[in-house]
Amino acid sequence: MEQITVCLTVDVDSVASWLAMYHGSTSVGDISRGIFSVRVGLPRILRLFEEQGVKATWFFPGHTAESFPEEVKRVLENGHEVCPHGYSHENPAMLDEKKERKVVERATRVIQKISGKKPMGYRTPWWEHSKNTIKILLELGYVYDSSLMEEEFHPYFLRIGDEWAEVDYSKDPDEWMKPFVFGKPSKLLEIPPSWYLEDLTPQLFARHLLPGYGWVSADVVYTLWKEHFDYLVEKEGSGVLTITIHPEASGRPQGLKRLEEFLNYVKRNTSAKFSTLKEVALEFSKNAKFPD
Ligand SMILES: [Zn+2]
Repeated sequence: MEQITVCLTVDVDSVASWLAMYHGSTSVGDISRGIFSVRVGLPRILRLFEEQGVKATWFFPGHTAESFPEEVKRVLENGHEVCPHGYSHENPAMLDEKKERKVVERATRVIQKISGKKPMGYRTPWWEHSKNTIKILLELGYVYDSSLMEEEFHPYFLRIGDEWAEVDYSKDPDEWMKPFVFGKPSKLLEIPPSWYLEDLTPQLFARHLLPGYGWVSADVVYTLWKEHFDYLVEKEGSGVLTITIHPEASGRPQGLKRLEEFLNYVKRNTSAKFSTLKEVALEFSKNAKFPD
């Protein structure tokens, strides 16, 4: 990538994430917060993007898309890219190949039905892969993934067949003292996100987690975005900064304010542009040498 590109990605985890990730499916209170994110947070973010004239890539779990199809349509009508993000925000590492394929296929069908188009990209829930994820995504015709983090600002091709030995203290050390083995590059492009560039983990209060969890100021998140952007501009000169926001966090007043500040900050730099992940994947593909 020859210039500074900022990709805004929005993960609309909504009710789905409470079902699979936070063990909150029996809590009416938590489910109501999931509904808030789509009914209240999403339109606010959509309006801000419209005011700012920026397009983003939105990732919907199949559960969110099937439960709130009108909101997905609004996002599409505003010219944004829409892609799947699991069905009930399942962790792929917890699924065998058959179950994972079923989840990805259903999530893909749901998005395709609403958008009328085959999605080009996929983001795994919890930013995890199983050893089968790349194979499944390629079989279903995906061009890019945005979940893994081997790079920070530069898209790369994912490998199939990496191997590593887990440390099992019940065994002899010779069993695990083995170096990492690199697999073979696949044709699946990775546009890396980052845990340090997402808004939810620091800001989502969840009562069953640690006391105080989720009470980080939006200022901290904004500072991290800004510092990554500055580093990219000053030290690397070109690359892709992928920001991940959730309506649960950045759809609230304090998050919206900082998000708006960040968009204005990027706009003041004339060498930077906003793109969707699809645009990045297409541009990268033009010049890339694909693995055999
Ligand atoms: Zn998610």
